[in-house]
Amino acid sequence: MSWRSWLRPTLWSGAAYRPFDYDTSPGLVRLDSNESPFLPDPEEMQTFQDELGRLALNRYPDVSGRPLREALAQRWNVAAEEILLGNGSEEIISMLTIAFGGGGNRPARVLYPTPTFNQYEALALAYGARPVPVPLDDQFRLDERRFAEALRQHAPALAFFASPNNPTGNRFDPEALVRLAIAADAVFVVDEAYADFGGGTLIPRVRATPGLFVLRSLSKIGLAGLRIGALIGPADAIAQLDKVRLPWNVNVVSLALGCATLRHPERLEARIREVVRLREELAGTLRGIPGVEVYPSDANFLLIRTPLEGARAFTGLLTRGVLVKNVSVPGALDRCLRITVGTSVENQRCVRALRDLLVGGGGVLRRDGERLRREPRH
Ligand SMILES: *Cc1c(COP(=O)(O)O)cnc(C)c1O
Repeated sequence: MSWRSWLRPTLWSGAAYRPFDYDTSPGLVRLDSNESPFLPDPEEMQTFQDELGRLALNRYPDVSGRPLREALAQRWNVAAEEILLGNGSEEIISMLTIAFGGGGNRPARVLYPTPTFNQYEALALAYGARPVPVPLDDQFRLDERRFAEALRQHAPALAFFASPNNPTGNRFDPEALVRLAIAADAVFVVDEAYADFGGGTLIPRVRATPGLFVLRSLSKIGLAGLRIGALIGPADAIAQLDKVRLPWNVNVVSLALGCATLRHPERLEARIREVVRLREELAGTLRGIPGVEVYPSDANFLLIRTPLEGARAFTGLLTRGVLVKNVSVPGALDRCLRITVGTSVENQRCVRALRDLLVGGGGVLRRDGERLRREPRH
């Protein structure tokens, strides 16, 4: 026999996450992963170098990442004991699914709205929990009655609500989320990976809302490479979750540079404000392209719909040097792309590529994407 007979059966149908292979196409405008387009400024880089020079690389880091938890606690006005650190917030989704995803004699259910971030489903499947996707309405809003009913009917152990949601960009009514969290007998996780870009946070509601946890990340605001995520929840729950967290899950480099970044929150906030400004500018310009529909966004990306089939639009932009995320699937996201907000120059290149693809050469584009005139050369 081999390893095959022992592999968890639900893993066969899954697929490992494979972002675009950037090495194959150097020079692309990368608007596919919702990263920040901004590097730290030179003064910050100097601080980082000083920090790195002082690191005890031969020692294990603080086992629970205490210095960084304290810095984050200050940022969010909670106690360090109410924070669990992850190697990115995705690791925390993993920990939550391990801790609450069942086992024993009953596979637990994991509920989430669709469309949304695909890791809730992927990790539920990986750990043998049962995914329960519940559709959003046709404007990607959360129908409170539908979700209250689904939470009652399916009795999930875990529920994930990304707000602002990925890939739709909108946030859900915070009061509706709090009401659902109170009514549900579930670990109710609001994933605020994009909350820095608009619409407020439910962190101040955690203490008074039984079952509510808030998940945050530093990835979208400039530190994706450091892998820093955090869960905010009741201290006693965090203490239990600490048993499924691997010791030293956040390394010394991430701890040191994370703390150094948080010592200057004003620099973070300035870059966040700039991304929000660029988002509104990009949305306005994209709306000016005939046939393009732009959804409202509280995040650092825009969901758009074009007249072209998703793969065709994706490839058309790629051949023009711009990488976006093709999120098109039949149904609510048909012909949709997700575009991360880049620098002003990157956004202009994206707009030019899209305009060229859709109306370039003056050709008229039919709904099925067939050009009535010849494709421009590239
Ligand atoms: C990007 C993203 C994350 C992952 O963040 P990391 O902290 O980089 O692991 C989590 N949730 C949602 C909804 C995201 O879009």
